[in-house]
Amino acid sequence: MSDSDESALDASIIVVGGGPAGLSAALFTQKNGLETTVFDADETWMHKAHLFNYLGIGSVGGSEFMATARQQVDDFGVDRRQGEEVTSVEEAGDGFVVETEEDSYEADYVILATGANRDIAEELGCAFTDEEVVDVDVDMETSVDGVYATGAMVRPEEWQAAIAVGDGAAAALNILSTEKGEYYHDFDVPDDAARVFGEHVAE
Ligand SMILES: Cc1cc2nc3c(=O)[nH]c(=O)nc-3n(C[C@H](O)[C@H](O)[C@H](O)COP(=O)(O)OP(=O)(O)OC[C@H]3O[C@@H](n4cnc5c(N)ncnc54)[C@H](O)[C@@H]3O)c2cc1C
Repeated sequence: MSDSDESALDASIIVVGGGPAGLSAALFTQKNGLETTVFDADETWMHKAHLFNYLGIGSVGGSEFMATARQQVDDFGVDRRQGEEVTSVEEAGDGFVVETEEDSYEADYVILATGANRDIAEELGCAFTDEEVVDVDVDMETSVDGVYATGAMVRPEEWQAAIAVGDGAAAALNILSTEKGEYYHDFDVPDDAARVFGEHVAE
């Protein structure tokens, strides 16, 4: 089972945006023991898409894909706040204060996954590239410590769901490695599936 079984992690994560990038990040962080909240205004481009190019899935409607993804993160216990838009993110001490239309929340890390909208990253002071997308490294870290950026906001038009999902996973694993103090592997094996799903596991 994943490394998190060996010792508890107590950092909290706020994900801004619940498209493929944001939900992927949330899946990895919550599944591995980090308390994770996702705010999503539900304007994902996936509602306009039909995927034939997502490896491992022959054909799926974008909204159908999102419904499965939402169920998956919900099953792992993500606090998914659908329809609650984030209005600002500010640094506060070692963490962040996130304001929404409804309330104020605190987190140790913020993962931005706001699609092609880069306003919050700009307001936070994240560096941008010459092509005016958020500048990140391969772990999706921005220039602001503790802030990650994922998905469409970090690429000038090379936009695909599979890439967004990978970005979210990379950001989450980097946070997990940081918190753990060593490289983190979210590796499960067939016995884990049998334990979690019992007789429902496919042969
Ligand atoms: C017509 C069309 C067809 C496409 N077809 C394909 C295809 O066949 N295959 C493929 O791989 N990709 C396709 N795509 C691209 C794919 O949809 C995107 O690559 C993918 O959705 C990007 O994921 P993301 O998570 O970065 O952003 P998004 O999916 O755009 O999600 C961002 C989310 O963040 C939310 N958000 C933004 N700001 C805030 C805020 N302040 N507070 C809270 N929430 C916020 C938005 O409401 C949205 O729900 C298509 C796109 C379009 C438009």
